[in-house]
Amino acid sequence: MTDTATSTGAATRTAAVRVTDASKVFPSKAGDVTALEAIDLSVGEGEFVSLIGPSGCGKSTLLRLIADLDSATSGTVEVFGKPAHRARRDQDYGIAFQQAGLLPWRTVAANIALPLELHGVGAAERRTRVAALADLVGLSDFADRHPDQLSGGMQQRVAIARALAERPRLLLMDEPFGALDEMTRERMQAELSRIAAETGAAVVFVTHSIPEAVFLSDRVVVMSPRPGRITHVIETGFGTEVARDESLRETPAFFAKVTAVREALHGAPATAPRGAEER
Ligand code: ADP
Ligand code: MG
Repeated sequence: MTDTATSTGAATRTAAVRVTDASKVFPSKAGDVTALEAIDLSVGEGEFVSLIGPSGCGKSTLLRLIADLDSATSGTVEVFGKPAHRARRDQDYGIAFQQAGLLPWRTVAANIALPLELHGVGAAERRTRVAALADLVGLSDFADRHPDQLSGGMQQRVAIARALAERPRLLLMDEPFGALDEMTRERMQAELSRIAAETGAAVVFVTHSIPEAVFLSDRVVVMSPRPGRITHVIETGFGTEVARDESLRETPAFFAKVTAVREALHGAPATAPRGAEER
């Protein structure tokens, strides 16, 4: 077997996520809402993919299908080669949303430890893992604080540490930095990029920020307004296994990709050869 080692040991790389011809229709009295149509999306192991598109185009819905928080009307959703509901049962991924969703009466350490407690990880191992996770997100000195003693960015880092607690090979994130100021947000992006590179986790990341998507991603998936479809997929080509460096933001390559995504969002033809060749 010459393939790179994967934890599945399969000869062919299993995709972290594979969505095939999926649609989602929300029935309503005023008429059905087709939120997603003909979605095909595959995310490789360790790959960072952002979903971007106008409000209401179905980004959250697509993420919820992957997380098995909702089910597709047609088509299939697989996570590590399993149906989404099995991946959910097997805790194959971690989730972080716009609201950190921390338990206010628990300390930072106890919030991070929660998923480990729920799954019966013993106290000694829990302590070790929580210390490592707090360190990973730069909160070692704040382990005994409570959420209301932390800034928004720090709370979001706790949420990310919690999402990583079970060492998921996949992270699903829905605008996790949406509520943060621009400076904090950029710092968190660099942090997340480092964490994703260090843990080797695949990430599906919903955002409506073009620079955020470009900075973080190996591929940016652009969606159209309702019914949400994938109209463009833009590879950044910044390297799939390295953490992003702040200096990337000022390179011509970065600006070129920001422009490419912006044009895609504004409805440039999907198959324009210039966009495809661009480096
Ligand atoms: P985005 O995250 O891109 O802003 P959403 O995925 O939240 O978009 O929503 C896509 C569309 O589906 C919107 O028109 C929204 O109103 C509709 N929608 C989302 N969730 C539900 C629901 N539970 N019931 C009915 N309609 C929904
Ligand atoms: Mg949303």
